Amino acid sequence: MVKDTLMIDKEISMEYIKENLDLVRENIKKACDRINKDSDDIVLVAVTKTIDEMIVNESLKYDITDIGENKVQEVQRKYDLIEKPVKWHLIGHLQRNKVKYIIDKVDLIHSVDSERLAEEINKKAMGINKVMDILIQLNISKEETKFGLERKELDELILAISKMSNVRVRGLMTMAPYYENPEEARWIFKKMKETFEELSNNDYNNIQMDYLSMGMTNDYIVAIEEGANIVRVGTGIYGARDYSK
Ligand SMILES: *Cc1c(COP(=O)(O)O)cnc(C)c1O
Repeated sequence: MVKDTLMIDKEISMEYIKENLDLVRENIKKACDRINKDSDDIVLVAVTKTIDEMIVNESLKYDITDIGENKVQEVQRKYDLIEKPVKWHLIGHLQRNKVKYIIDKVDLIHSVDSERLAEEINKKAMGINKVMDILIQLNISKEETKFGLERKELDELILAISKMSNVRVRGLMTMAPYYENPEEARWIFKKMKETFEELSNNDYNNIQMDYLSMGMTNDYIVAIEEGANIVRVGTGIYGARDYSK
């Protein structure tokens, strides 16, 4: 009996996830059409935090290529349980003492916001002969206490990282505050894009502006219109869940 219920729930949630994904992809396509961009150039990161690995595995059959987790422990726990090759994105705040647990697992760290963290990543990446791709997290709005650097602190960090052999900056990331009306976040995404462009013509080999990671369930459409090419969508795919757990 219990087992039956579980099966039924799983069926329903898979149908639900499929519909959600179709809608998100459709929205991405439409936003790209509006700005004359190829939607193939947008990376959709399915944010799987708090989602059971069984559900995540099932959902991968809908062509999910990239998954995002915000906690180191969850990457560690799920890493061997995910059955298909996917790219792993660490999107949440990263403490220096935990870099060692994920350095061999993740493909892109979105949340680098200090030289000390970059240094630790460099050291641990060197230890396993890897060049770790990272994004620098910016905090444009400063409205809420969120992680991320201010614009004026960015050049110094870039200069410091330019001397690190095993870290490669691939772009920028931000998390806008939650606004009921996502239009209110538009200026933040614009500002990010400006900064991204400013940094695009730099002389450092290991600083490449390839990715602009911005936009979550509530605001990914606006983010794409303003130039995001990585969007991180959790709720919009897997449904609402309690993130405080
Ligand atoms: C949880 C999270 C997301 C996804 O948020 P949703 O609103 O569920 O789409 C994106 N980015 C980061 C950094 C997150 O922690």
